[in-house]
Amino acid sequence: MNAILASPADPTVDLGLRWRPGFASLGPAFHTELRPTPLPAPYLVGLSTPLAGELGFSADALQAPEALDAFTGNRLLAGSRPLATVYSGHQFGVWAGQLGDGRAILLGEAHTPAGSHEIQLKGAGRTPYSRMGDGRAVLRSSIREFLCSEAMHALGIPTTRALMVTGSDAPVRREEVETSAVVTRVAPSFIRFGHFEHFSSRGQEDELRALADFVIERFYPEVRASERLGGNPYANLLEQVSERTAAMVAQWQAVGFCHGVMNTDNMSILGLTIDYGPFQFLDAFDPGHICNHSDHEGRYAFNRQPNIAYWNLFCLAQALLPLIGEQDLALAALEPYKTVFPQQLLSRMGAKLGLAQAVEADRLLVEGVLKLLAEGRIDYTIFWRRLSHHAAGQSPEPVRDLFADRAGFDAWALAWRERLAQEPGGVDGSAGARMLAVNPKYVLRNHLGELAIRQARNKDYAGVSELLALLQSPFADHPAHDAAYAGFPPDWASSIEISCSS
Ligand code: AMP
Ligand code: MG
Repeated sequence: MNAILASPADPTVDLGLRWRPGFASLGPAFHTELRPTPLPAPYLVGLSTPLAGELGFSADALQAPEALDAFTGNRLLAGSRPLATVYSGHQFGVWAGQLGDGRAILLGEAHTPAGSHEIQLKGAGRTPYSRMGDGRAVLRSSIREFLCSEAMHALGIPTTRALMVTGSDAPVRREEVETSAVVTRVAPSFIRFGHFEHFSSRGQEDELRALADFVIERFYPEVRASERLGGNPYANLLEQVSERTAAMVAQWQAVGFCHGVMNTDNMSILGLTIDYGPFQFLDAFDPGHICNHSDHEGRYAFNRQPNIAYWNLFCLAQALLPLIGEQDLALAALEPYKTVFPQQLLSRMGAKLGLAQAVEADRLLVEGVLKLLAEGRIDYTIFWRRLSHHAAGQSPEPVRDLFADRAGFDAWALAWRERLAQEPGGVDGSAGARMLAVNPKYVLRNHLGELAIRQARNKDYAGVSELLALLQSPFADHPAHDAAYAGFPPDWASSIEISCSS
């Protein structure tokens, strides 16, 4: 082994974590114990101070060299027994067979002041599930995942979190040679639909049941007592997952988030946004936008996400069928998705329009504005923010000026103002305050990430931390940062190509 690397014999790093058995207790059919593969001379690229605090770490402790070693996989955290989990999945609509944590290594599940959390290192080396991959992640995609995880959390969207990114000059070959990085990801659980598909597809019903029971015990205990769906706990689990997934995707659609690779192995059993790869926040509103350059068919286009989520839930239902027993029950458990998603979307879009309680008739207002935005390819985030400022009492001109079709906008805005007048408090500014609290000023646009990445490649991480700070309070004004971070994307933004390569 390279002499500059910490050796496995090095003493462990004690950050005071108390571990609990967690996923590891499911047994060897579910994972392989292994050690991360060290990387030379790690350096800190980004740290989420708020998450560090939530987990009970001091930011200083995390920046110490031994902590950087621990979160790069060079030294073990005291008491940690790292492992990689096995799962399978459907990728781009096709059964892909066994996949698994090919580059993510679970350090364990820790008790923290914020509850139990799994801590995982993404990019920490090869595992038995790496297939042809090198087990590594490159700096650019690690920065994107880090920033987006924390951005989504601050937007109030369920997501896995990211504590830090460390980098190393160790080269990684993709389309060109890049450098490696490791993201420390944190979530109550990283279990995916694909974990269930794995055991189900192999007819391993005992393991399937053990996994479902684990998830129920830990995360959905209420389903045991439910009398819905014939009192079948597994059907109830499926229903709960469907509802959480519906709520999550409604939030994606409302904020203009395109996930880009909604394979069933990238769907969380907890309804968390997971596996940030070729994602994008929409710039100009285009309902059919495809953010993943590898997605030639547009399977994961923005406006297909709700249907794809349902398709993925259908795969989960099929995987759970041996436990549920009756196909009709499994289908019945999926049924609420068809009502919960539209309700959630209406309520989110209504909130964006300043409506405390959107009703069915408000769908016309929502559809009307989305049609205008699509026709004019209007910037999605800027539109909502300017509309919010108008509702808060400012002149309509900044939002109106976004539209070439002024008459179209005026007609829509008239109907919107009439509707707002019926709200409690009317158009006296309280709607504006509500809107400014749900329509973010700062989102992780591709070009903003790209600029921070370019800077980071020159070992200057100020751009990463400045952008992170804005994304962590996306509804605040931060006027000093208007020009650099809240404006229209530059022309070159549309030529950024983000693919599955990461
Ligand atoms: P993704 O499309 O990122 O969700 O990855 C799909 C599968 O490929 C998962 O099993 C990953 O762990 C695996 N994978 C992706 N990139 C790598 C890599 N560089 N090395 C090993 N496995 C990888
Ligand atoms: Mg994945």
